Amino acid sequence: MRIFTYSLFVVFSLLCISASHPPAIYTLINADMPYLLDFYKTRHQQPEISLQEKETSATLAKELEQIGFSVTRNFGGYGIVGIYKNGQGPTILYRTDMDGLPINEKTQLPYQSKQTTTYNGQEIGTMHACGHDMHMTSWLGTARAMVAMKNQWKGTLMLIGQPAEEIGAGARLMLEAGLYQKFGVPDYGIGLHCSPTLETGKVGFGKGYTMANTEMADIVVHGVGAHGASPHMSIDPVVIASMIVMDLQTIVSRNLKPTESAVVTVGAIEGGIKGNIIPDKVTLKLTIRTYKEEVRQMVHKRIEEICKGVAIAAGIPDNLLPEVNFPKKFTPANYNNEDLVDAMTKAAAKAIGKENVVVTEPLMLGEDFAMYGHTKEKIPTVLYWLGTAPKARLESDNIPGLHSPYYYPVPENTLKTAIAVNTNALLELFNNK
Ligand SMILES: [Zn+2]
Ligand SMILES: [Zn+2]
Repeated sequence: MRIFTYSLFVVFSLLCISASHPPAIYTLINADMPYLLDFYKTRHQQPEISLQEKETSATLAKELEQIGFSVTRNFGGYGIVGIYKNGQGPTILYRTDMDGLPINEKTQLPYQSKQTTTYNGQEIGTMHACGHDMHMTSWLGTARAMVAMKNQWKGTLMLIGQPAEEIGAGARLMLEAGLYQKFGVPDYGIGLHCSPTLETGKVGFGKGYTMANTEMADIVVHGVGAHGASPHMSIDPVVIASMIVMDLQTIVSRNLKPTESAVVTVGAIEGGIKGNIIPDKVTLKLTIRTYKEEVRQMVHKRIEEICKGVAIAAGIPDNLLPEVNFPKKFTPANYNNEDLVDAMTKAAAKAIGKENVVVTEPLMLGEDFAMYGHTKEKIPTVLYWLGTAPKARLESDNIPGLHSPYYYPVPENTLKTAIAVNTNALLELFNNK
């Protein structure tokens, strides 16, 4: 039934299209909107959290197969790879993520999520609070439009349905499963993310570093415990940890070049049981955000030096120096290739008007899309921001951000914008790059 519906859609669309001008694309998108809105609302109602995207990925795989993609399932967890070969030309990767979050939705939308899951032993609702349902629907809508317009471009469209973005694992899972070895190295990689602070109908592009390298670190500060009334018999790890926390503040303020960016946050301090016992251990938990690799290395070096130096000054013996544990795996900073941003900005302006394409500032958030451009092949990639908020919401003093139980994108206009921008960008890249 869906195949039949889609055939009618393609025939209708092809009748409407004579050239790749935006109005023709809008005719195509408008005709597909009821189908896509239905798909979007269903996805919104059925979020699956990271590494549990079984039904979501099966649905996406089926949708792509119905329009002629060759699809590989369960590639790196529940990842899917859809390939559409359409003659000689470049290969372009376009990625969507698929996972929702363990959040009880409070939007009161008629299509609010009804799903629950067990998370850390607790029953909790699941919600697409990061807009990955919108990402999937824009991706599917773009696929359907590109197939309908297949006589207007040549090349290979590589559509990735990526699991586990929220835990920074999915892109690595797919790349380590041999994404580029098995399906070929793409010439370009593109993706988008919903923006809660950009108006629906607009898109935002930043050049160079737009999102940060994100990693957590643990510091275990050892000491010598004693009675709280006999501090002279202790080497107090609470005091040492406190001094380390304060000294860590000097990394960004005193060691980092003022024109560079980094964040060192101590988000948790754990240690001690009772007011009258000096403990023998305190743990600090950090989040570290950087753009450049050399800055990351400098931050690591200074954290280690500060921990060691403060402990030595407090009289800690060599065998009890603080242990600093940096993760082996982390999400690299996202770098938007300048030329690709120029090409996509031009295409976006043609699709939605120059006034709706804005330049966005870099953020210290992380996104594992960065990894597709971070392999040894160094393919040019761009992750752009998709505006999702109604104007009234932006003018209010209550703007729910990503991961808020109140966040949701305006469905129809946001979808149309994404598909118009994506199709124009892909046509530009397939035909003119
Ligand atoms: Zn998120
Ligand atoms: Zn997200």
